[in-house]
Amino acid sequence: MSPEEEKALLSEEDALSARPVQIVVAHEDDHAFELDEAALERILLQEHVRDLNVVVVSVAGAFRKGKSFLLDFMLRFMYNQTSCSWLGGHEEPLTGFTWRGGCERETTGILAWSDVFVVDKPDGSRVAVLLIDTQGAFDSQSTIKDCATLFALSTMTSSVQLFTEYGRLALEEIYEKPFQTLMFLIRDWSYPYEHPYGLDGGKSFLEKRLQVKQNQHEELQNVRKHIHSCFSNIGCFLLPHPGLKVATNPNFDGRLTDIDDDFKTELVNLVPILLSPKNLVEKEIGGSKVTCRDLVQYFKAYMKIYQG
Ligand code: GDP
Ligand code: MG
Repeated sequence: MSPEEEKALLSEEDALSARPVQIVVAHEDDHAFELDEAALERILLQEHVRDLNVVVVSVAGAFRKGKSFLLDFMLRFMYNQTSCSWLGGHEEPLTGFTWRGGCERETTGILAWSDVFVVDKPDGSRVAVLLIDTQGAFDSQSTIKDCATLFALSTMTSSVQLFTEYGRLALEEIYEKPFQTLMFLIRDWSYPYEHPYGLDGGKSFLEKRLQVKQNQHEELQNVRKHIHSCFSNIGCFLLPHPGLKVATNPNFDGRLTDIDDDFKTELVNLVPILLSPKNLVEKEIGGSKVTCRDLVQYFKAYMKIYQG
C-alpha cells in the first residue's frame, strides 16, 4: 500500500470511529458532577492537536431543543469544508451526535465530538476545533442549580456558545461568567414579518429583548446589564420551523428531503457564521489564547470549583 493509500484508509477509519464522548456526567441522585479525565485527555492530548490553540464551539440548552440535530449539520460542515454542497445528499440520513424524537429523557451532561478538527485560518494560524453538546434539564427531576452549573461549565470552557430556545428568549435562565461569543439561537421563529429570519432579524429582536426598562423587576434588569458586561460578542439568529416531519414524524431520520426549504436556507447561512475558518474564535482565558493541552487543565480546575 502506498503512503497516500494508507493515509486515506486511516482517515476513513477515523471518520468511522468518530463519535460523541461523554466527558462530564451528571449524577442525578446526589447532584454530583464527574469529569471523565481519561476520555477528555484521549480527545485533547492527541499529538496532532494538543499544542494548537483551541476553538470550542458548544451548543447548550434543555432537552429536545434540536441541539444534536444542529450539531450534526455542523459536523457535516466540518467534514466537508471545501465543498459547497456540505449540507449533504437529499436522501442521506443524518448521523453524528445521536438525536431522536419523543419526550423521554437522556443523560444530562457534556458530550464532545471525538474528532478534533484542524483548520487553517486566513491569517495563517492553525487552530483545533472542538464541538460540544451540553444538555441540561429544565424539568422537575433536576434542580435549577444543576443546570446553572452545567451551563456555567460549558461557558467557561468554550469560545463560542450557542444557546437554543424555541420561539422566545428566556433571559431569566441565563447565569454567570460567560466570556467570548454568545449566540442565542431562536428556533421555530414564526414572526418573520416583524423580525426577518437570520442574523439581522435576530439582532433587532435581541436589542428589543435586552432593553432595560424602568418598570422591569430589578432582577431582570440586572440579568440584562450583566449579559452585556460579560460577553464581548452577543448575537442572535432566528431560524424558521423545520417542518412537520422534523417535529412530529417518528420515522424522520434527518434526510434533507423531509426538511422545509426555508429552514435549509437559513441553516446554510448560520453554520458558516459559526464555523468558517475566518470566523473561528479561539478560546481565551484572562486575555490569553488556550491550547488543547491547557484546556484539559482548565476543565479539571473548573470541575473542582463547581464540586466545592
Ligand atoms: P436535543 O435533545 O436538544 O439534542 O434535541 P434533538 O436534536 O435530539 O431533537 C429533538 C427533536 O426535535 C427531534 O425530533 C428533531 O427532529 C426535532 N427538531 C430538531 N430541530 C428542530 C427545530 O428547529 N424545531 C422543531 N420544532 N423541532 C426540531
Ligand atoms: Mg441531544
